[in-house]
Amino acid sequence: MSVLEKINSKEFIALEDRFGAHNYHPLPVVLSRGEGVYVWDVDGKKYYDFLSAYSAVNQGHCHPKIVNALVQQAQTLTLTSRAFYNDKLGKYEKYITELFGFDKILPMNTGAEAVETAIKICRKWAYEKKGIDEHEAIIVVCDNNFHGRTTTIISFSNDENARKNFGPYTVGFIKIPYDDIEAFQFVLENNKNIAGFLVEPIQGEAGVYVPAENYLEQVKELCDQYNVLFIADEVQTGIARTGSLLAVCGNCTCENNCERQNTYAKPDILILGKAVSGGVYPVSAVLADDNIMHVIKPGQHGSTFGGNPLAAAVAKAALEVVGQENLIQNARALGKLFRAKLSEYIENSSIVSLVRGKGLLNAIVINDTEDSSTAWDICMKLAENGLLAKPTHGNIIRFAPPLVMNEEQLLDCVSIIIKTLKEFEK
Ligand SMILES: *Cc1c(COP(=O)(O)O)cnc(C)c1O
Repeated sequence: MSVLEKINSKEFIALEDRFGAHNYHPLPVVLSRGEGVYVWDVDGKKYYDFLSAYSAVNQGHCHPKIVNALVQQAQTLTLTSRAFYNDKLGKYEKYITELFGFDKILPMNTGAEAVETAIKICRKWAYEKKGIDEHEAIIVVCDNNFHGRTTTIISFSNDENARKNFGPYTVGFIKIPYDDIEAFQFVLENNKNIAGFLVEPIQGEAGVYVPAENYLEQVKELCDQYNVLFIADEVQTGIARTGSLLAVCGNCTCENNCERQNTYAKPDILILGKAVSGGVYPVSAVLADDNIMHVIKPGQHGSTFGGNPLAAAVAKAALEVVGQENLIQNARALGKLFRAKLSEYIENSSIVSLVRGKGLLNAIVINDTEDSSTAWDICMKLAENGLLAKPTHGNIIRFAPPLVMNEEQLLDCVSIIIKTLKEFEK
């Protein structure tokens, strides 16, 4: 790298630093181009992307089919608002509801908005269908959850950084430990006002915590038994990331309608975001069957951009790519290989204590204290060695490459990761 080029990237960083709010702490890498599993910085250095914009770019950077859908639609019609019908939304709604096996979709833009929407639907259902007294509905959530950044959502976070000094908080939530079916049962038995259970099928932000094999099936059973809505936040885990179309699909191998699989813990409300658009445009979705979705009537919820024709065209193309390019099977196979290779290395490692995950949503736990800078330092070194990843919580590094990766590329990445880790062995 020449001195001039270095100054160049420093200037971009200085601009963001000077004129942007400091609500993120990025690695000092300035990206200007992406294609498939790769991104390039302003100096032309090439990296494997092992974050995939928090699993929004499952289909790979700048996927030609998705970009083409964007360009075509952008030149035709972008936004009408929902004051009128448009010729793209209905087709997209039919496609996505059939793909995931629900009667209806409520289209939104960001993940947090979709979570908010699910909470509103759940509460309204509780009063109008379940018969809970007004203002009494409770939604159960999990410790260490991540569902987004709005005022209501951070109200039930236990991340002090996300919460502190943003109160007063929204009431109506109970927190229980994750992956603890007895704790859930206890809450259900002792409170008649439970309306729903909002849960991530795998806790991504918390550090890629995969629950026990049958946890979600048990959750679904209890929800059915107590007439409580099972609300799955698949914003990060959905769309093939974990080696099935949805993480709630468990070990099914089907590509499309996971309902056919008996391992499928079908949620009452499904929340999708991120990879719904392949990272090309902000698109999120809430899916539910008619008996639930019908509680929302005209004027009771909405969004100017939600369901716009550009989003509909992009999302439909992005979802089609998942099946066309076998991303489910690929994520499953490469995920197994990734964990096998890293497990083998970890056996004799003093710096990494474990690897865990499902499909291509994985994490390693660094053998150091949670407040140490080791994970950050490893990520800096990984970047230097041509691979971008970021610590999630303190000493945990998440590895989530685009699902269009091939085996040769994955093995190349494994050797970069192992080579880098070796530099930190004591
Ligand atoms: C990213 C994420 C969200 C929030 O999505 P935004 O688009 O950032 O608002 C919600 N839930 C989960 C599980 C996520 O990973």
